[in-house]
Amino acid sequence: MKECIVVGGGAAGMSAALTLGRARLDTLVVDAGRQSNLVATTLGGLLGHEGRPPAEFYEAARSELARYASVELRQGEVTRAKRADDGSFTVTLGDGRQERAVTVVLALGAEYRYPRVSGIDERWGGSVFHCPFCHGWEVRDRPLGVLASGAVGVHGALNLRAFSDRITLLTNGGNLTGPQRRQLADAGVGLDERRVSGLAGPGSQLRSVRFADGGELAVDALLVKTILHQRSGLARDLGASLTEPDDMTGVEAVAVDPMCRTGVPGLFAAGDMATSVPPSMAAAVASGYVAGAGAVARCAAGY
Ligand SMILES: Cc1cc2nc3c(=O)[nH]c(=O)nc-3n(C[C@H](O)[C@H](O)[C@H](O)COP(=O)(O)OP(=O)(O)OC[C@H]3O[C@@H](n4cnc5c(N)ncnc54)[C@H](O)[C@@H]3O)c2cc1C
Repeated sequence: MKECIVVGGGAAGMSAALTLGRARLDTLVVDAGRQSNLVATTLGGLLGHEGRPPAEFYEAARSELARYASVELRQGEVTRAKRADDGSFTVTLGDGRQERAVTVVLALGAEYRYPRVSGIDERWGGSVFHCPFCHGWEVRDRPLGVLASGAVGVHGALNLRAFSDRITLLTNGGNLTGPQRRQLADAGVGLDERRVSGLAGPGSQLRSVRFADGGELAVDALLVKTILHQRSGLARDLGASLTEPDDMTGVEAVAVDPMCRTGVPGLFAAGDMATSVPPSMAAAVASGYVAGAGAVARCAAGY
């Protein structure tokens, strides 16, 4: 039996595995290899890795883990998991193999759902992005759009204003309140309430947003509202509970305490799937570290 199984080998899972490996715990990391930012050209806002392609970050993390003999990194997908009466966990992989462990760290990431607009898929992670702090710097001082309505749209547009003074909020037919309109006007943010019909530009670049009335607005990049969803029911299957969806982001996260404990003894969750702060690589690395330390303490002292 392993001391820990880490499900997911993104920033959170590998950070947990590093902590577990350094403490010499017998650890298995199972990773399906679909980290959510792999489509992005560069990483922004992660100290020590500014501007690096995400794939390079994951490769470096995997080679760091290879130094720790007690950590096995396995490509695969956990399809089922259950907790036995003695408190141990059994996970089943896609190839049918089963593994048991004293503790489990769930670090599955999240599915980012963005608006269904024609031309968005091929630009996602490049000229279309969800986080000003991750990608705003790269498009600073350029004409930018924000596609979102209501308070989320206003919040996004005001945040993006730090990066450019040519911001237009596109509500796609949604209405704003009088105070929200004034807030935008005071900040020098443009407002366009027409229905959006699609995005245009060569390849994955963006040159304009097209409207249903035939008009268009020239922008070089677009910030869009995304909602994070759980990637699978594994956390629930193991007895973890989810938080109420957050008003601003719609996130329904796995509920954890500050030590990343789920409330099910021996079960930890970290990264995007359990985040109560805006999702980021820095937050994922930090919470993975905490979850790994928690699993070490559980094995060493039974906490
Ligand atoms: C397009 C895009 C660009 C981004 N850019 C930035 C940025 O520049 N800077 C920044 O700070 N943040 C950025 N983010 C956010 C950042 O990528 C996430 O916050 C971070 O990746 C979360 O790490 P994680 O380990 O929780 O999840 P992930 O990185 O998604 O990793 C989870 C891993 O678990 C695997 N997995 C899932 N289910 C299973 C299963 N059942 N069995 C086995 N493995 C499984 C997945 O395949 C994946 O490899 C971006 C996000 C997106 C979508």
